[in-house]
Amino acid sequence: MKSVKRKIFLLGLTAMMSVSLAACGSKEESTGGTAAAGTDTTAAAAETETEGNDGDVTAGGTYTAGTYTATAKGNNGDVTLEVTFDSDAIKSIEIKEHGETPGISDAPIAKIPELIIANQSLNIDAITGATNTSNAILNAVADAVTQAGGDAEALKKVEIADNEAAGEAVEKEADVIVVGAGGAGLAAAVSAAEEGASVIVIEKNPYIGGNTVRTGGGYASCDPEAIAIHEMTDGEMAEIEGLIARETDNEAVKGWQKKVAEDMEAYKAEGKTQVYDSLEYMSLQYFFRFSQAADPELLYDLVAKSKPTKEWLGELGFEWTDSPSFLLGDTWPRWFSSVSAHGGDGFISVFTDAIEEKNYNVEIIKEVRAGELLTADGKVVGVKGTAADGTEYTLNANKGVVLATGGFSANKEMLIEYSDGRWADISKLQTDNDPAMVGDGIKMALEIGADVVDMGHLQLVPTCDPKTGDAYPFIGTGTNLYVNKEGKRFVNELSDRDTLSNAALAQTDGIFYMVCDKNNSGVGEDGTTYGGQNIQDLIDADIVVKADTLEELAGLLGVDSATFVETIEKFNEAVKTGVDPEFNRASFGGDFINPDGNPGIFEAPFYAGPRTPSAHITKGGLKVNTSAEVIGTDGNTIPGLYAAGEVTGGRTVAGLLEAMTSGRTAGKTVMGK
Ligand SMILES: Cc1cc2nc3c(=O)[nH]c(=O)nc-3n(C[C@H](O)[C@H](O)[C@H](O)COP(=O)(O)OP(=O)(O)OC[C@H]3O[C@@H](n4cnc5c(N)ncnc54)[C@H](O)[C@@H]3O)c2cc1C
Repeated sequence: MKSVKRKIFLLGLTAMMSVSLAACGSKEESTGGTAAAGTDTTAAAAETETEGNDGDVTAGGTYTAGTYTATAKGNNGDVTLEVTFDSDAIKSIEIKEHGETPGISDAPIAKIPELIIANQSLNIDAITGATNTSNAILNAVADAVTQAGGDAEALKKVEIADNEAAGEAVEKEADVIVVGAGGAGLAAAVSAAEEGASVIVIEKNPYIGGNTVRTGGGYASCDPEAIAIHEMTDGEMAEIEGLIARETDNEAVKGWQKKVAEDMEAYKAEGKTQVYDSLEYMSLQYFFRFSQAADPELLYDLVAKSKPTKEWLGELGFEWTDSPSFLLGDTWPRWFSSVSAHGGDGFISVFTDAIEEKNYNVEIIKEVRAGELLTADGKVVGVKGTAADGTEYTLNANKGVVLATGGFSANKEMLIEYSDGRWADISKLQTDNDPAMVGDGIKMALEIGADVVDMGHLQLVPTCDPKTGDAYPFIGTGTNLYVNKEGKRFVNELSDRDTLSNAALAQTDGIFYMVCDKNNSGVGEDGTTYGGQNIQDLIDADIVVKADTLEELAGLLGVDSATFVETIEKFNEAVKTGVDPEFNRASFGGDFINPDGNPGIFEAPFYAGPRTPSAHITKGGLKVNTSAEVIGTDGNTIPGLYAAGEVTGGRTVAGLLEAMTSGRTAGKTVMGK
């Protein structure tokens, strides 16, 4: 067996880069106005009659009529727009160019320009969850106002009209009501539609996708044939042998150990050298990695459905990478992703495309927050929700309701209430989640007698921004070299996430630096990162430092130079020899952004950025069975109620695998399949 180069997939990537870079709608950045009154601007975003502007001068003063171009920093880079003015009003706003995250940016792009024009105001609230895109539009329009000779500061103080009066109550009916338009909810909707269901999906955000669209799109699948392109290392063999020997009282788990032991005997007898995988081995790894807390039946079912669900997504149009990679926190290379979409977007668009192409009877209603499950004779028969403007929604389900509201990492009170003591000071933790992840589905189900399991099992991801808590942007992949403020390495960077996060929190200020070189930073020749940001923007925002020598890098980080350089030299030696006497890292192969390389710090420019753990995934949730039926505190299933994705507990493995498999199952079960 030898140490081989293999791909290490980063924790999730990148389309959703939640950077709080200072928005800059400065004059320097704008390309100037054309004093072309009457320019025929076909505003894609907004061109409405300006209410309250019958030739009166607005708070912005008078403008030099014409069309002006301005640019401001959004979430993923520049947002450029054109604003057309007549002498006393903003007439239209057209977004010309942007690289903002599809789905999440739809709402601000549609709504903010409309609100600016209707109110002749820049005093518009950012759309929750899409703050950076919202602010980019507001800042760029402010710049255009200034270019046109108007008073942007005055427009920022103009109160906007309250058009939020509730509409008439809405009542609708469908076979299946799905709550939450993330990955699990849309998987459930499409799978139910395949069985002929009419479906209504309600989503509280103005955009769909939930946390699913924020991910790097790594999907774990047990596929022994695909994984066998890698040769097994000594470290990997030792891991298998260690898991076979672990003590357990659980009969199912003992059965997995026996099967893996038999497989390994055959493996050796046949002289095999490639990485081994099986349903039993993947289940065994997850069972022991996550505190032996999983319900073995649920866990095995999840693993067994991983490949069939991957194939189902493929049939729906998802284009998978052929060979798997590593993902931050996993020791086994079994993560697949989309070849065509970065990040989690592919796991949403595959469903919206299918709904459109196959003309499924699926209606998605945004900006309606479900608040209550409706019951009749002990059965769940619908959902009550409220729209952003207060309009009441009653949605009746002929067959059942699927809760797919995600986890609760963004609800500090719930995290503290249910803490199992695994993390010392939850009140200080930030999160990388969408703000919508506050546990609504769990609360609604608890009201009608549902049971919950494993609620204290919060997973942190170690590599977040200390200022914002966001997982992105960063450079590298998350499996790069970690160095603390004392300039020392402190952990095997391929450990599981609990180990990495515990180790990180034990460092001075709970902070460490992820260190990369030219080849494993993901920064391209054009100066953009793998996530599409300009590296200079990340440097300006103090997310990353860059240097031509290791000594200079140490100086920028404020760590002792001699210690830092010695640490790098030792790490590079381990990379070259494949042997890591200090921390026993088993692989120094390439990673997702650097498949044929290594994590060594060899070639300038060198980069580093401060990182700290954030609340990432809540593994606990509603108690369910393998058919996605919700179980009550009396031990019986609750008729008409199903749950899928991170809102559920019991598997101790959350993420896209759980969302896709359990969502698909829920859609089938509710239709009696
Ligand atoms: C930054 C980041 C990166 C990640 N990367 C990966 C990765 O690469 N691989 C992986 O396997 N996992 C990853 N994860 C975890 C993964 O994103 C989640 O576990 C998974 O997407 C959960 O899917 P879901 O459908 O259950 O929930 P979500 O996708 O979060 O969807 C839940 C939806 O329900 C809506 N909702 C909530 N309450 C209500 C209500 N009351 N009414 C109506 N709608 C409501 C929400 O707005 C949301 O749209 C990552 C997570 C984060 C935060």
